[in-house]
Amino acid sequence: MFKKRKIKIKIKICGLKYYNNISSIIDLYPDFIGFIFFEKSPRFVGDNFLAPDTIGISKVGVFVNEKEDKLLKLSIKNNLDFVQLHGDESPYYCRNISKKGIKIIKSFGIDHNFDFEKIKEYIDHVKYFLFDFKSNLYGGTGKKFFWEKIDNYNFKVPFILSGGINSNDFDKINNLNIPKLLGIDLNSCFENKPGLKNLNLLKKFISRIKYKYLSDYHGFYGNFGGAYIPEMLYNNINYLKNEYNKIINNNSFKKQLKRLLHNYVGRPSPLFYCKNLSKIYGAKIYLKREDLNHTGSHKINNTIGQALLAKEIGKKNIISETGAGQHGVATSTICSLLGLKCTIFMGEVDIKRQIQNVYRMKMLGANIIAVNSGSKTLKDSVNEAIRYWINNPDCYYMIGSAVGPDPYPRMVSYFQSIISEEIKEQLKEKESGILPNYIIACLGGGSNAAGIFYHFLDDEYVKLIGVEASGLGLNTNKTAATIQKGSRGVLHGSMTILMQDKYGQILEPYSISAGLDYPGIGPMHANLFYKNRATFISVTDFEAIEAGIELSSLEGIIPALESAHAIASLKKLSFKKKDLVIINLSGRGDKDMDTYIKHIENK
Ligand SMILES: *Cc1c(COP(=O)(O)O)cnc(C)c1O
Repeated sequence: MFKKRKIKIKIKICGLKYYNNISSIIDLYPDFIGFIFFEKSPRFVGDNFLAPDTIGISKVGVFVNEKEDKLLKLSIKNNLDFVQLHGDESPYYCRNISKKGIKIIKSFGIDHNFDFEKIKEYIDHVKYFLFDFKSNLYGGTGKKFFWEKIDNYNFKVPFILSGGINSNDFDKINNLNIPKLLGIDLNSCFENKPGLKNLNLLKKFISRIKYKYLSDYHGFYGNFGGAYIPEMLYNNINYLKNEYNKIINNNSFKKQLKRLLHNYVGRPSPLFYCKNLSKIYGAKIYLKREDLNHTGSHKINNTIGQALLAKEIGKKNIISETGAGQHGVATSTICSLLGLKCTIFMGEVDIKRQIQNVYRMKMLGANIIAVNSGSKTLKDSVNEAIRYWINNPDCYYMIGSAVGPDPYPRMVSYFQSIISEEIKEQLKEKESGILPNYIIACLGGGSNAAGIFYHFLDDEYVKLIGVEASGLGLNTNKTAATIQKGSRGVLHGSMTILMQDKYGQILEPYSISAGLDYPGIGPMHANLFYKNRATFISVTDFEAIEAGIELSSLEGIIPALESAHAIASLKKLSFKKKDLVIINLSGRGDKDMDTYIKHIENK
């Protein structure tokens, strides 16, 4: 039904040799790095070489007709994840070493006459194949074989494409639609000399291939994102970025996170089929029930991830800011659980508006600092928190949405990506793995949307819909519809789209729902908008409340006003009968009862 999916292409960088160059390559996060243990190659690593440790990157040793015992020895000494066999090794040879627990990539040189029947005998003994240009020089020739030869490849073993891939091949690779293509091998066309890789060329190429919609390693989503920060913040941010990059591939960290999400938050959250809603809107509608999480919204997914990170890097003081108090409560909650000190900056105006959440945070042991500068609301609290962080670099600053300087947007998006990760699993069971036609989420800063979009970004078949709050209407100045009303600029350390006047001053946003009341949008969404990957629509206060009331009466679920915006979009989209629609129900409506009551009483 949907099979037209884009493949995530893995990157293998091969023929590394020089230690300094290798550690720079590791910072590019390829999926595999390869070292050549064949004396006749100009990229031979030498007899005294020792491959450095890597986390999350597989190490490959390349061998040509090597003796079994020497290959085993080198494999153990260098802690290799794979051996790549580049000579005339027989299926028998492969069977023998694979029996010793070694994973094999078997390489074949392809020419016009190559007969793919030949590789059949290897299938049960190897993990991957690698197809290269046929030559007597054993790799790194910079020449391509005839890629048409692999168009119809359909053995069960995935393969890596090699042989003279260069920067100009981007479109060609991007258009390859071979299900078993695992990745590409980059070697001689990205070098200054044999074995010394050209980092700039590699960086550019990898980010084009890998990060079409996700950020690159500098936090850029296309032309958005990055870290536009005052110099005084540089050390704090840089330290955080390095630590985050390290920890995110650490298995014990991932396990801790998983355990808390399961036992404390109650994940996985249900994917609930709404029969009554579906009947009315003529599509098959599911809700992802983030409202059932502990503390009542998706925000806890992110605060747990960041709090564990803080703990792991030895930070005991957490600071954060909050507008409506939702992120403040989620932060205080996890700090209380993990025994971290918690300080929350909150505007005086917001404190008066959200007194319940203020007392929640106090009960949870947080220290609230009232901010009385500027308009005494969220943006002023951000400023105060940043000022405090500069003076107290030992603190950990916990941002609550997919905004701010790198690494925050990609970190928050990643911690929220559990939402779409679970959906993909749940769809296997409920819809035999069919991809949805629509994914819908409301947008404040963009974290719940980033989380539910994340694992569908490359499935271009899936329409992604972001719903902004237009407040009293797009034509009034009481609105928070950033993408509709905004323009490009820097907000809170990130190049993005924001609402600003012609002098670049931030316009005060407005929405009935406190969580959508933000003048910017996360850089991921700005990029999705510019690349036409997602569609952004807006919903007024009135439409959202009505949708919230409708959902309550039809399905027995009272949504947060933020989430009610996503529900209201159903009236603005037209579906086909069989369309599969998933809406992120980001939070529950308890906190919004006063607003609902007012609306009902005035009717
Ligand atoms: C905070 C909040 C939002 C908006 O924040 P995003 O970062 O855009 O997800 C949406 N829904 C709920 C329930 C919230 O608490």
